[in-house]
Amino acid sequence: MNVLATLLLALCAGDEKKSIDVVCPVDGHKFQALEVTATNPWGGRDADFCRHAYKTTPLEYYVWVCPACGYSGVKKDFDLKLADEEKRILRDGLKPALPIKKSARQPEIPGHVKYDLMAQAARLRGLTAADAGKAWLHASWSCRQQGAINLEFDEWETLRTNYGFNRLPLDMPKEKDGKTTRDRTEYELQLVQKLEKDIQDKKVFGVNRILARYLAAYTWRKHGEHAETTRWLAELDAMKGENSVVDDAVSRMRASIDLEKGYQKKALEQYAAEVGRAAADKRTLGEMAYLAGELQRRLGDSKEAASWYDKALELSDAEPLRKLAIDQKARLTRP
Ligand SMILES: [Zn+2]
Repeated sequence: MNVLATLLLALCAGDEKKSIDVVCPVDGHKFQALEVTATNPWGGRDADFCRHAYKTTPLEYYVWVCPACGYSGVKKDFDLKLADEEKRILRDGLKPALPIKKSARQPEIPGHVKYDLMAQAARLRGLTAADAGKAWLHASWSCRQQGAINLEFDEWETLRTNYGFNRLPLDMPKEKDGKTTRDRTEYELQLVQKLEKDIQDKKVFGVNRILARYLAAYTWRKHGEHAETTRWLAELDAMKGENSVVDDAVSRMRASIDLEKGYQKKALEQYAAEVGRAAADKRTLGEMAYLAGELQRRLGDSKEAASWYDKALELSDAEPLRKLAIDQKARLTRP
């Protein structure tokens, strides 16, 4: 086996994490957290910049929360020296979205709860709206990644393999230049359209009638496209009672969309305010305007989305961002 293949297999087995001792800068509480020391970049990137790893979700582990007081942040936020007044404001102000036991281990606390607390901490500490917006955006991504619930059936894996979803990172198709590997998000969103056509043309039979529909919902869900996901969930509702495992995944997926939308609205509010204030440099403002467009599109407001994409084009001269804004704006009018 060559070196690359060995490395690939090692990484596919999961992220590497190490346990470290953390002291909360607010109340001095000591707890253990997991630090991600290695992951993989092969899961692709959604148009709102949500990165996916291949077969793992390290997103949940980049943020830590003190289970005693709710202070939350990434590693460097736990190295801060905070003034007494700041500590008091944080202790009084932080309100977890779900109750956290003082004895809770980090993996027991949902990612969205951690990122939401990080956003709250940014607000309470008087950091920029962009900081809070970014943390809420991450909370929404956490709902997205956890809301795409994998199934354990052999038939599910076979169906995924047949449509190309199980393609290994090493075997991914190349871009036109023949060198760059295709982005996995774009690739999966193309596969799902082929799958949808086969469902429409009644080319899926037996257990695949329900699994193919679930795979369509799952793929759109994984990439945070609510409109398409909701459409397939409605079809699955009509088949309720046929497969209890799918029924359960459907209801959890639906709940995760509502949760994600809540955080998307909060992120949007922050970005819109920041662009309105025009305090940051033009490039950052362009990115925030673009993200506001993506958030509005995903929340279902095409008109608002279009005007934010235009705003991004007006503010940014960064070519990759401009291309994204143009492409995503064009999606709004596609049937
Ligand atoms: Zn604490």
